[in-house]
Amino acid sequence: MASVTFSNVSKKFGEFVAVANFNLDVRDKEFLVLLGPSGCGKTTTMRMVAGLEEATSGDIYINDDRINGVLPKYRDVAMVFQSYALYPHLTVEDNIGYPLKIRKVPPDEYKRRITEVARRVELDGLLSRLPKELSGGQRQRVALARAIVRTPRVFLMDEPLSNLDAKLRTQMRAELKHLQHELQVTTIYVTHDQIEAMTLAHRVAVMNKGVIEQLGTPREIYNDPRTLFVAGFIGSPPMNLIPGDVKNGIFASSGLRIGGLGRTDLSRAMLGVRAEDVHVAGSDDPDVNLVAPIYSVELTGENTLVSLQLGGQLMTLRADKNFTGQIDQRVGVKIASDRVFLFDAESERRVD
Ligand code: ATP
Repeated sequence: MASVTFSNVSKKFGEFVAVANFNLDVRDKEFLVLLGPSGCGKTTTMRMVAGLEEATSGDIYINDDRINGVLPKYRDVAMVFQSYALYPHLTVEDNIGYPLKIRKVPPDEYKRRITEVARRVELDGLLSRLPKELSGGQRQRVALARAIVRTPRVFLMDEPLSNLDAKLRTQMRAELKHLQHELQVTTIYVTHDQIEAMTLAHRVAVMNKGVIEQLGTPREIYNDPRTLFVAGFIGSPPMNLIPGDVKNGIFASSGLRIGGLGRTDLSRAMLGVRAEDVHVAGSDDPDVNLVAPIYSVELTGENTLVSLQLGGQLMTLRADKNFTGQIDQRVGVKIASDRVFLFDAESERRVD
C-alpha cells in the first residue's frame, strides 16, 4: 500500500523555478502519468520522489512518511530511466539481481525471483548475456525487470519507452499496462507522448511550465480540456484551434460560422474542434459551416486526414478512407455546435 502526496512542492535551480507550488495526491495502486512538453518540470518532480533532487520548499509524503531528506535507498522506490542505466560489465542476471544483492536476499530466493521475473518479461534465454549483446527492447526489459524484481512501494518511470522504435514501443506499452494490472504497485510515469499517457494512465497530470494545468482521467482530459494548452496538447492530430470572435452566440472567423454557442460575447475567442467532429457535407447541402479549398489529403489506412485552407491556417478533418477529394478542390464542412470548445484567447481558459 502506498500513496504519494505532494504538498506545495517547489523546486528552484538558482533563480529558475522548475516546479511551482505543486500539489498532487497519487493514490494507492494508481498509474499516474505526468505529461507535458520538454522542460515543463516532469523529471524534476519525479526525481524529488526518488530522492535524486531535494525540494526547495514543500513536503513530499509516501503514505504518512515525510520523505524530504530521506536517502534514496531508504525510500523504497524503484526507478526506470529513459537511458535504462544498466551496468555494462554485469550480465543480464546480475543486472536484474542487483537490488536483491544489496539487500542480501538469500541465494535460493534470489534464484527463484530472477527466474520468475525473467520469465515475466521474456528474458529467460538471455540471462548470461551482457547489455551490449542485447537489442534496445531487450535492454529496456532488463531495466524493467530490475525494477520489478522486488516489490517497492512506488515505481518511478521516466520515459522508459522513448528509445524504442515505434513498433516495439506499442508492444511494450501493452506489456507495461498488463504488468501494472498484475503487480498493483503505485506508479508515477513521466512522458511527453500523449498517446502513452492516454493509453497507460488511470489519471493524467498535464504539466506546463512547472505547474499542473489539468488533472483527470484520460477521458476527462480528452473530452473536457479546461485550457487552450491542454486542448492543443492532447489528441492526434491536435485539436483545430481557430481564432475569431463570438457575438450573439455565433462564432465567426474567416469564412467559418458556427451558431448556438451560448450568450457570452468574446472579441478574442478561440474555437477548438477535433478532426473527427468536422464532417464533409454533401455537395447539395446548403447548411454548411464552411466552404474551403483542400490543402492536403493524407490516407492513414483506416481513414483520410484532410486539411482545408482557412484564412492563414489549416483545419484538419478526418474523412472516410474512401474520400476522393483533390488538392485545391473546394469542399463544404459541417461542425456540430455541441462538439466544439470555446476558449477566451486572453485568459486561455475554456468559456462555458
Ligand atoms: P524533458 O522532457 O526534456 O526531460 P522535463 O519536463 O522532464 O523535460 P525537467 O528535466 O524537469 O523537465 O526540467 C525542468 C526545467 O528545469 C528545465 O528548464 C531544465 O532546464 C531545468 N533544470 C533541470 N535540472 C536542472 C539543474 N540541475 N540545474 C538547472 N536547471 C535545471
